[in-house]
Amino acid sequence: MLKTGISKILITGASSGIGEAVAYAFSDFKCQLFLVARRQEQLNRVAESCLKKGAPQVICQKHDLSIPGQGTVIVQECLKTLEGLDILICNAGYGIYGPTINISPDQMSRIWQVNYQSGYESIHAALPYFLSRREGHIVLVSSVIGKQAIPFSATYCATKFAQVGLGNAMWGELKKHGVGVSVICPGATATEFQEASHKVENQKSTSWGRAQNPMVVARAIVRAVQQKKRETHLTVGGKILCLLERLVPSLTIQAITWILNRRQTTTKTDTNDN
Ligand code: NDP
Repeated sequence: MLKTGISKILITGASSGIGEAVAYAFSDFKCQLFLVARRQEQLNRVAESCLKKGAPQVICQKHDLSIPGQGTVIVQECLKTLEGLDILICNAGYGIYGPTINISPDQMSRIWQVNYQSGYESIHAALPYFLSRREGHIVLVSSVIGKQAIPFSATYCATKFAQVGLGNAMWGELKKHGVGVSVICPGATATEFQEASHKVENQKSTSWGRAQNPMVVARAIVRAVQQKKRETHLTVGGKILCLLERLVPSLTIQAITWILNRRQTTTKTDTNDN
């Protein structure tokens, strides 16, 4: 599927972190890129580096994927400006940390739209093109949290679980039509994600061990496309968590809950001390 000097790639959330790294990884294969995010200056910076790395053409489009329908628009624009699309990477996303009772239905709708629904819109817009050519590849950047639920991240978990379900179901549907689907489940990655995430007051974000470099995730995405991998798990902690969830699900969620409740109590005590 990945053809050096030919492939056309759409990446959402390409202005920083994993999306930015993915843009660089595909630039090494001289791919044409269509990059989407809200911050135009950041996109321009990434585009410049991609051109230096060897990408022959890079289009940057400022879009807010929290607006319903934008996922469709970006695919239509990509098909028009790049005259095609080979690999669609649904990566844009953010987190919300806090007790579910403090997170409004509007906040849930927004995170759902950005993390899941905009990706679904893009996939739905790209599928007729992929199916008519009997080739194409869809990448969904989910999370280890899409495999193992974590208390105080319920809305984020819901979007990431949904991506895993969608990706695995489509993998089975589309395989015989020549269209690949890969779900990527990174663990903690050193990006702007923690800063960008919405935190309810006093809520500490969840950190599970040392964060990996986003380039590690980008290279795994390239491999997943090349080898048509269904699901990729990254970081040792993430892999262990998924294994424990499969072997001892009840014990795993109880242990995570105990650790997180303890961390929240410590944070509250620290805050009171100040
Ligand atoms: P970053 O915050 O660095 O990147 C998020 C990207 O999404 C940015 O380019 C941002 O661009 C874009 N984005 C956010 N909201 C919108 C919006 N409304 N419209 C358009 N684009 C938007 O974090 P990561 O690179 O870490 O996150 C990428 C993906 O990886 C996410 O889906 C995340 O859930 C997943 N992930 C991250 C992990 C981590 O530890 N970092 C672990 C597991 C999964 P802009 O702000 O310019 O719009």
